[in-house]
Amino acid sequence: MALDQETLNQFIESVRRYVRDRLIPLEMQVAEEDRIPEEVIDEMKEMGLFGLSIPEEFGGLGLSMAEEVAIIQEMGYTSPVFRSMFGTNVGIGSQGIVIDGTPEQKARYLPRLATGELIGSFALTEADAGSDAGSVMTSARRDGDDYIINGSKRFITNAPRAGVFTVMARTGTREEGGRGVSAFLVDATLPGISLGKPDKKMGQKGAHTCDVIFENVRVPADALIGGKEGQGFKTAMKVLDRGRLHISALSVGTARRLIDESVNYATQRKQFGTEISNFQLVQAMLADSQTEYYAGKCMVEATARSYDAGEPVSLNAASCKLYCTEMVGRVADRAVQVHGGAGYISEYCVERFYRDVRLFRLYEGTSQIQQLVIAKQIIRNAQNTL
Ligand SMILES: Cc1cc2nc3c(=O)[nH]c(=O)nc-3n(C[C@H](O)[C@H](O)[C@H](O)COP(=O)(O)OP(=O)(O)OC[C@H]3O[C@@H](n4cnc5c(N)ncnc54)[C@H](O)[C@@H]3O)c2cc1C
Repeated sequence: MALDQETLNQFIESVRRYVRDRLIPLEMQVAEEDRIPEEVIDEMKEMGLFGLSIPEEFGGLGLSMAEEVAIIQEMGYTSPVFRSMFGTNVGIGSQGIVIDGTPEQKARYLPRLATGELIGSFALTEADAGSDAGSVMTSARRDGDDYIINGSKRFITNAPRAGVFTVMARTGTREEGGRGVSAFLVDATLPGISLGKPDKKMGQKGAHTCDVIFENVRVPADALIGGKEGQGFKTAMKVLDRGRLHISALSVGTARRLIDESVNYATQRKQFGTEISNFQLVQAMLADSQTEYYAGKCMVEATARSYDAGEPVSLNAASCKLYCTEMVGRVADRAVQVHGGAGYISEYCVERFYRDVRLFRLYEGTSQIQQLVIAKQIIRNAQNTL
């Protein structure tokens, strides 16, 4: 534990209050205007949310994984766009540096990422490299003391605000696959970097993604994370377990909100002369959602504790990501059903959440990729015991 229990409880409580009193009332405005008010971003910085996972020596809160999932469940109770604003700084935008960065890279970037002064984005996906992340074609060619980066990345979260990109680029040959890929810290102001138009998304209005184009971008050799070529995927893999647990916790938090909205509605809405919550078919939907929520919560919290204990968690983190993101999709679908026609109308938040949570099954590894990770590992484990 990075925090003592009382401090942790106070922090959880303050995030809970902030979500309910400040963020939930803003949800509709943020979705309609497709932007989070700047003063809210400043408040989230003040609360330390950008630095949740960054060690205290660099100005962050240095939360353990169990503490992080507790906070992120609270954040999941409101529109996920608020979490998205600081999510890249907490996840892959900072953790590559925390885990594998050189002392100079840590000192240069982490303090500003922790305060939110600097936004970190992670640039892996390309037009022809999504799930097959090892096939990225963005190149980084050594030129004296520098590298020259060329290529295009797409769907990059927070790119329009980013001050630094962690760019996965090929330093080796195509045949080397993931072993030929390195991670670079690229300042967003460097000449040769341009952004595409903001993507028009299904949901999560207020969170922004776009293409990032690198044309002959010259970066110094010390921009290579860890100072060694070909380590990019090893770094990404180390960060993945944390990221998967983070998205799982977010899904659990959103499921809680959707269940609460459904129960509230069902106990007020009357049909056939009684509240619809008295109908057992409606109760079945509520009960299924509650049960699945609880299963997801238990999985995430148990795996986070294993992570903190230093146990290998890749199998369980992938299982959490698969289960929790699919679970919140089912919970959102039932929430719409419980609301009847109102569930299809954007005045009721379940319509928006239904679209927002669809993303959780796609990014940070699709559900199919989680299934492959899980199956490969249990088959390998079985073969090793033969
Ligand atoms: C809003 C948003 C934000 C994003 N943010 C970022 C970001 O910040 N940084 C970043 O780098 N990327 C980001 N992404 C990209 C995201 O991580 C990818 O979209 C995702 O990994 C899937 O890749 P893809 O879209 O190319 O789909 P594909 O890989 O083309 O997959 C299409 C379908 O095929 C399935 N499939 C693929 N391979 C297999 C297989 N071997 N076996 C079985 N099924 C398979 C997939 O599961 C999926 O159903 C973001 C995407 C979105 C939509």
